[in-house]
Amino acid sequence: MKTTNLIIEGFRKYNRVNLVDWLQILEECKANVKRQTASLLKASIKQPQPDLGVGAGGDPIKQIDLTAEKAIMETLLGKGLSFTLISEESGIKRYGSEPDQAYITVDPIDGSTNLTRGIPFYATSIAVSTNPKLQAVHTALVADLFHDVTYTAVKGMGAKRNNQEIRPSKEVDLAEAVIGVDLNTYKVREIAPRITSLIERTKHIRHLGANALELCYVADGTIDAFIDIRGKLRATDTAAAWLIIKEAGATITTPEGKPLNAKLDPTEKLSFVASANRKIHKIILNLLKA
Ligand SMILES: [Mg+2]
Repeated sequence: MKTTNLIIEGFRKYNRVNLVDWLQILEECKANVKRQTASLLKASIKQPQPDLGVGAGGDPIKQIDLTAEKAIMETLLGKGLSFTLISEESGIKRYGSEPDQAYITVDPIDGSTNLTRGIPFYATSIAVSTNPKLQAVHTALVADLFHDVTYTAVKGMGAKRNNQEIRPSKEVDLAEAVIGVDLNTYKVREIAPRITSLIERTKHIRHLGANALELCYVADGTIDAFIDIRGKLRATDTAAAWLIIKEAGATITTPEGKPLNAKLDPTEKLSFVASANRKIHKIILNLLKA
């Protein structure tokens, strides 16, 4: 190929990647998930949910997970896009002629147990990145399907809740703070001692059961921190909320205070502390025992 042709081809590729309005596409994915899951949500709440195998992330798959993922895929493929899918359910799959153009990390339903038990706290989570790493996420959406609340973020452009800009809380007093703690693990004997000093000083401890959405609650000031040091949360569940937290101006690090890095892969696990502001973050980190 001649040099000029190579330059033109390179320019075309650059434009294809950069002119895609990912936020608009994620909004369309969400709308399609809502449409396609509506009848299932009505019919299936509080009914026994048969397992349909095990997803790439290791959890049992339910019909609602498959329906939500199918709705997302139909929207993406309908756009004729090239991309690599990283899904909690179906693993890593490549689509189109240039699948490295975009990586789309999907948790079709975060909080499946809440959903199947009729607890109204679950979400669809989708993140777009330039490579399969958490730090490369540039566009994110977490949609609370029950309350019809959608959190979005675009790198460098802030985070929004139903299109209104959000900020985290300014709370710095643990006695007043509402803090989410996920202790949902059979290894609780190992985890609990690390967190008792924090719980002793905090009046309002919560766990709501859909970690992506609970992180968004830190982003918009509903709660003041959310801690998951179990080492079993999938990076795929966190990808979208990570950007929403960062763009809202909240803080998220490892329990040791280091930047959160993770490969976007359904088998990758991580631990984190997310806080509304640096001051309360520091207080929490100091109380967590290594
Ligand atoms: Mg899920």
